Amino acid sequence: MFFETTRNKAGNLKLGLMGGTFDPIHVGHLVTAEEARQQFDLDYVIFVPAGVPPHKDNEMISLPEHRFLMTSLAVMSNPSFFVSRIEIEQKEPTFTIDTVRHFGSWKNPEPEVFFITGADAILEIFSWKDYEELLKLSTFIAVSRPGYSLDRFHETLDRTCPDMQQKVHLLEIPALAVSSTFIRERVALGKTIKYLTPEPVEQYIKKHGLYRVTR
Ligand code: ATP
Ligand code: MG
Repeated sequence: MFFETTRNKAGNLKLGLMGGTFDPIHVGHLVTAEEARQQFDLDYVIFVPAGVPPHKDNEMISLPEHRFLMTSLAVMSNPSFFVSRIEIEQKEPTFTIDTVRHFGSWKNPEPEVFFITGADAILEIFSWKDYEELLKLSTFIAVSRPGYSLDRFHETLDRTCPDMQQKVHLLEIPALAVSSTFIRERVALGKTIKYLTPEPVEQYIKKHGLYRVTR
């Protein structure tokens, strides 16, 4: 990532990581990342498109290069947003722990890592690889996505690792029910996706004929 070789900040570096399939990236992701950046005073948010997503391997997913390019187009105008190729360049499925370890091992300055994730994903964290180490290495920003309650998550966290409560923060963002699935379905039906994703992404989808066939 270009950014890795050009960063030069003295003192604390607060790094937000936002993992996802981004098939395609949409306003829900962008509003979430921007809100997290502001509320947690993050220096950067790095979007990390998944290579072969471990949790989605039986679905058809667009080529990593398409998802990487769409994500790059979407973050173009935000000086704090970057995209990493770390996961898409791996042949094997990668896990959040590997990505967090990668960014956490940066030196000069060593970053404080914040992992931004939707409430739907955070509910599954206990099934993630090395989740205890994950909670040690990073702070989680769990975003309240419409339709998901975090009550169950807090009950589970209370029961299994109560000392980790301070490592998981809730972030309420304006209700945005947009999902990539919703966008793909609309494209397949020939419906407009204007304003659901940045215009360059919309044009990219059109140019490459993505999502024309329902999965
Ligand atoms: P799909 O419909 O294919 O599952 P998605 O919209 O959920 O796609 P992902 O790439 O799976 O997008 O999501 C990446 C991260 O962004 C996840 O942590 C997810 O919970 C979060 N996220 C997705 N959409 C929203 C939204 N509208 N508001 C807040 N967070 C979101
Ligand atoms: Mg999802």
